Amino acid sequence: MKRLDGKVCIVTGGALGIGKAACIRLADEGARVAVTDIEDDEGQRLCDDIVERGGTAEFHHLDVTDEDAVTRVLADIADSLGGIDVLVNNAGISGIDKPTDEIPSEEWRKVIEVNVNGVFYCTRAAIPHLRRRGKGSIVNLSSIYGLIGAPDIPPYHASKGAVRLMTKTDALLYAKEGIRVNSVHPGFIWTPLVEAMAEASDEGAHAFRENLDALHPLGHVGAPEDIAAGIAYLASDDAKFVTGSELVIDGGYTAK
Ligand code: NAP
Repeated sequence: MKRLDGKVCIVTGGALGIGKAACIRLADEGARVAVTDIEDDEGQRLCDDIVERGGTAEFHHLDVTDEDAVTRVLADIADSLGGIDVLVNNAGISGIDKPTDEIPSEEWRKVIEVNVNGVFYCTRAAIPHLRRRGKGSIVNLSSIYGLIGAPDIPPYHASKGAVRLMTKTDALLYAKEGIRVNSVHPGFIWTPLVEAMAEASDEGAHAFRENLDALHPLGHVGAPEDIAAGIAYLASDDAKFVTGSELVIDGGYTAK
C-alpha cells in the first residue's frame, strides 16, 4: 500500500519545474494525478512518462487566471478521475524585476492575477469537491519571498506574502470540515523560472547561479524534488494533524 493510494491530486502549473517534480512524486506514491498547465506539449509528455512508469496521470489545459475554466476543468477532473482529494496551487510567475517606483500597474496586476487570484480561483472551485469527500488537503506554493524581504521583484513578494496568509485563513475556515491548508516556502530551486531570471540578470547566468548558491547555508540552490517531497508529505495522511503551517524548504536561507 502506497501513501497516496486512492487519492486524486490536481497540480496547477504541473508541466515544468516544481510542479512537474510534484506530479511525478505524487504519482509514484500512488495518487491519480491531474497535471494542469498552459504548456500543453510539456504537460502531455509528462503524463505519458508517468503512465509509462506505471502511474495514473491525465493532462488538462488550465490557465489559473481564467476563473470559468478553473471551475469547468476541476469538474471535468473530478468526473474523469473520481473526485478530488488534493489541490496543489503551484502555478506562479516571477514577474517584472524593477524597483517599485518603476513598475507599470499592468505588470503588477499580471503577477497578482496568477500568483494570488489564481490560488483563490482554484481554492474556491476545489472546496465543494473536497467537502464532498469529507476531507482534503490544499498545498499552496508560497516562497521564502513570502517570509522575508529582498530588494527585488516587488509584486512577487507581495503575492507570496498574500498566499502565506490566505493559507492560514483557509486553514481556519475549513478545519472543521477536515480540509487542511498549508503553505510551502522554497528557497531558490533550479527550475525554468529561476533559469529565466539567471539569463535576464546583469551579471550573467553563471555568476547568478554562483551567487544564489552562496546565499543558501547548505551551499547550493535546491532541486525540484526537494520541494516535491514536502508537497507529497502535506498531501498525505502523514500530515493529518498539520494545517495552517509553513513548510520551509530553503537550505537554511531564512535561518540567518
Ligand atoms: P516554472 O519553472 O516557471 O513552472 C511553472 C509552470 O506554471 C510553468 O509550466 C508555467 O508555464 C506555468 N504557468 C505560468 N502561468 C500559468 C497560469 N496562468 N496558469 C497555469 N500555469 C501557469 O516555476 P517553478 O520555479 O517550478 O515555480 C513553481 C511555484 O513555486 C511557483 O508558484 C513559484 O512562485 C514557487 N517558487 C519557486 C521557487 C524557485 O526558486 N523556483 C522558489 C520559491 C517559490 P510558462 O512556462 O508558460 O510560464
